[in-house]
Amino acid sequence: MDYLPVFLDLTGRNTLVVGGGAVAARKVELLLKAHARVRIVAPRLHPELMVFRDAGRLEHCAVPFEPHHLDGVMFAIAATDRPEVNRAVAAAAAERSVFVNVVDSASDSSCIMPAIVDRSPVIVAIGTAGHAPVLARRLRAQIEALLPERLGELAQLAGRLRERVLRSLPDLRSRRLFWERLFSGHIATQVLAGQSASAEQLLERELESERAGRAEIPAATGEVYLIGAGPGDPDLLTLRALQLLQQADVVLYDRLVSEAVLARARRDAVRIFVGKEPGQHGRTQERIHALMLEHAQRGQRVARLKGGDPSVFGRAGEELEALRSAGIPVVIAAGVTAALGAAASASLPLTQRGRSQSVTLVTATGEGADRLDWRALAAPLQTVVFYMGIAQLPRIVGQLISHGAPPQRWAAIVERATLPQQRVVAARLDEIVERAQRQAIGAPALLIVGDVAEHACERKAGVRSSPLAEAQLLHGVGA
Ligand code: SAH
Repeated sequence: MDYLPVFLDLTGRNTLVVGGGAVAARKVELLLKAHARVRIVAPRLHPELMVFRDAGRLEHCAVPFEPHHLDGVMFAIAATDRPEVNRAVAAAAAERSVFVNVVDSASDSSCIMPAIVDRSPVIVAIGTAGHAPVLARRLRAQIEALLPERLGELAQLAGRLRERVLRSLPDLRSRRLFWERLFSGHIATQVLAGQSASAEQLLERELESERAGRAEIPAATGEVYLIGAGPGDPDLLTLRALQLLQQADVVLYDRLVSEAVLARARRDAVRIFVGKEPGQHGRTQERIHALMLEHAQRGQRVARLKGGDPSVFGRAGEELEALRSAGIPVVIAAGVTAALGAAASASLPLTQRGRSQSVTLVTATGEGADRLDWRALAAPLQTVVFYMGIAQLPRIVGQLISHGAPPQRWAAIVERATLPQQRVVAARLDEIVERAQRQAIGAPALLIVGDVAEHACERKAGVRSSPLAEAQLLHGVGA
């Protein structure tokens, strides 16, 4: 190990920054974040630094560096763009045994600044001993994606509890078990999902029952995550969806969840297919409820993975109700709904000034289909996205046209949106049925109706071939 990683408490201590440019500004910002007192030596200041100076947050010496600027300082940063000045700062600091960091020169530095992931009070510092700062930055990006935003809140909660836990659980082993359970269980999940209030209530209850002196540590309570798996491309999973998926012991998934998404679950997780068989929806839904309850009540973490977003035509309401009435903690992770995934991967905007002012997500399948307000759905200046409608395509298009939609209005069908097998058909309303039939388009697919569909790219892999682009080529506009 070439360097010893330490965390410095700089609160109220004197630090020195030599240099007044953008690099110095970033360092000063960090030092101020760590509550240090900052003296800056530079003839001129970057505008950001002027703001700090004018707010009285730093002491500015508008002169060239001299060794006495290091008086009383315990940590210095040389951040000028002149190597000889930086070296002079480093030499003067070494003479006085002051730790110094010279920006971009590990060899002149007695300490180096790590790349950091800040979830204060949790901080991850990454260093490569100056060998590969770019690698450190890449690692940082990876860790950023890995650590939930509210990790700091969780640590703070633990900090607030320390004293109480110490008092109520005098025995070291039970304390350790308590913390282990806190960080791996549903209380942590709820804090990380932004539901701190309910988490604190659960915590109070748990501490109370610990104090009541139960000799045995009770089996951990299980929990259920309703996770939006997105339309298929695993890169469209949200960070929260991925984090929850990776901590689940059991994964219940249905037909719309892609293999690639499922592959992101833990290797040792039990995977259970709960896809709906045609004509058996009621029974399948009951089985899903039973499976969720059964596993959660055994103390397991259950991921209920749903295509797209759980709250869009996803029966999330019924599942939530079943879980809540059984007292099982639930967290919902939003997903990218098929309409949004399809719009992005077929390169069409869902709204556009002058063409579409609103987006409607609708299904023309099921009990309510006959009561849909077709006149409203046929109105101009909007985009209407039909879910679960591909088997009903001729009926939907017929209804729209007979309720006033012009046959010349654009429509697009996106089959298997965001997956490698994605296919897109774009045509005028009066041609779309025939085009879809000719290409044998099947489920899952979305029908997008509105003039924005003119932008849809029919071919994949970046080859632009939207009707609009072709027209522009013909008329020599666009590039
Ligand atoms: N909760 C899901 C929708 C479930 S309803 C969501 O938010 O996306 C099922 C319908 O969604 C399918 O019939 C189809 O119309 C649409 N759908 C889901 N995934 C799709 C995909 N990858 N490509 C096209 N349509 C999709």
